[in-house]
Amino acid sequence: MNDASQKEKLRQHFARRVTTQARIVLDTWQNIHSNHDSFPAHRNELLSTSDKLVRYAQRFEMAGHAEAGSAILMIIQDWPADTPLDETTEQRLQKAFAALARNTLRRTDQSKTEAPHQFRRTPVYIALSNAEMASRLIRQLEFFGFRASAFDSADDLTEACSLHKPETILMDVNFGGRPNAGLATVEHLQERHDTPIPIIFMSNEDGTIQTRLRASRCGGEEFFYPAVDPGQLIEKIEIYTHGNTIEPYRVLVLDDSRAQAKFMETVLKRAGMTAHIITDPMQIIDSLDMFSPEIIVLDMYMPGCTGMEIARVIRQQDRFHSVPIIYLSAEDDVTKQLHAMSLGGDDFLTKPVDPKHLIATLHNRGRRARSLLALMIRDSLTGLYNHTHTLHLLDQEIVRARQKNQSLCFAMIDIDYFKKVNDTFGHPIGDRVLRSLSMFFKQRLRKTDHIGRYGGEEFAIILPDTRPSDARNVLNEIRERFSELQQPAGDREFTVTFSCGVAAWNNESSQTLCERADRALYLSKEQGRNCVTSVDS
Ligand code: GH3
Ligand code: MG
Ligand code: MG
Repeated sequence: MNDASQKEKLRQHFARRVTTQARIVLDTWQNIHSNHDSFPAHRNELLSTSDKLVRYAQRFEMAGHAEAGSAILMIIQDWPADTPLDETTEQRLQKAFAALARNTLRRTDQSKTEAPHQFRRTPVYIALSNAEMASRLIRQLEFFGFRASAFDSADDLTEACSLHKPETILMDVNFGGRPNAGLATVEHLQERHDTPIPIIFMSNEDGTIQTRLRASRCGGEEFFYPAVDPGQLIEKIEIYTHGNTIEPYRVLVLDDSRAQAKFMETVLKRAGMTAHIITDPMQIIDSLDMFSPEIIVLDMYMPGCTGMEIARVIRQQDRFHSVPIIYLSAEDDVTKQLHAMSLGGDDFLTKPVDPKHLIATLHNRGRRARSLLALMIRDSLTGLYNHTHTLHLLDQEIVRARQKNQSLCFAMIDIDYFKKVNDTFGHPIGDRVLRSLSMFFKQRLRKTDHIGRYGGEEFAIILPDTRPSDARNVLNEIRERFSELQQPAGDREFTVTFSCGVAAWNNESSQTLCERADRALYLSKEQGRNCVTSVDS
């Protein structure tokens, strides 16, 4: 390692220490902020953590942090120790913390070595004229596990985009002060990128068709006029960041010719699909269970049975009723092809098949199948798996856990006193809480975990290959963080908690496992709610 890179590494190391300390300070503030009267109780903690921050920042020459930290320290020292904050001081402090938050976020943005579990996503950039709104959004986004940075000038934003392309930008149409200055910035920005960055525009002043058109032409996916509350914005941001990642299609290929199978595997893999290849028709049932394909490609003629017979057997199972089946054969007799299709096939490709043609067919079939499936297996309010599908996935994971001899955990979750949320703030706000908890789970759990909406305000989570203690810790961490999340309701805010029961699979049926998790959940409720309980078998 040369001298310069050694120095840079050291710098990053110290920078991390400062940003970690800044986060501690910000967290302390978040606790006070949700309850102003608690200032005297937290004053000393805030003083000592901020003081440490200033000392670190000065030592490691991070002027922005040092300045923001000193401002915070001064305000706190000036305020009497045993008095709750008044409104003016609270606002001054909020401003100082917002400055610290901005510094901290921008810094982490530059260091590529941030802990992966905390910032695993590409960033979301915020370019709003209202700095307070921006920092409130950032706090909320952080809670959801997003990595967000706010900017106060077009130059900073442009520079950041060229360093690290964001998933989306939330942009004030007038960002920068002048009318439509934000639009001009985005137009300029998009020219530098091959694929446009999706932009969420908002404006409090201008909702004219001219402005909306201009926004849409430069990559505007949404246009909010007048501006909406952070809850709605975060939902949109979630859509653009989640919806953008397309999972590879899972394709099962059955062809008795090894050479043909190998060729298919290469073509599919090159197209970014996940392929599972079998050459023995008798393996089909096991493969369906293990791999759960989204598309099936069948050879027509094989020793022992035909592709059409296999298709009929596949169709006899409810859950594969709508999986597209594509026949692949040297058969060019159209009558025979049509007959094959009538027996449960969706398409017919003639060998030798052109790879481009094959991939296009698979893409079309796969896309359509996915959107139909989503209607069948997902809950429309939250986008999570519905009750039936969650239980189906649990059965499937039990098969897998048994085969691979792995552990498996199942958790049931029920929101505490949810009826009161509906009664106090109304059903639509209740719905938003359900969606925010869903997003929270999606952001914080692994891709391999399955999240379902079990019933009204009940959720179920399947954690494959997870030890009971790890499941408990993860859920407990989520519980704790969720309980801190401020739920917006007009100009008020409130918090919500949930109770959770976890059970580890013990070679039992899915029904028994569910019952045990439910019992654990009941214990959590009995113990006063807002906790995670696990049961031993
Ligand atoms: P506990 O802590 O004991 O779980 O209390 P709770 O109030 O959460 O439980 P209870 O079962 O008494 O009430 C559940 C409430 O959830 C009642 C119902 O109106 C509400 N709920 C169920 N589904 C939905 C929904 O889709 N949207 C909204 N907004 N509310 C729902
Ligand atoms: Mg309930
Ligand atoms: Mg409840």
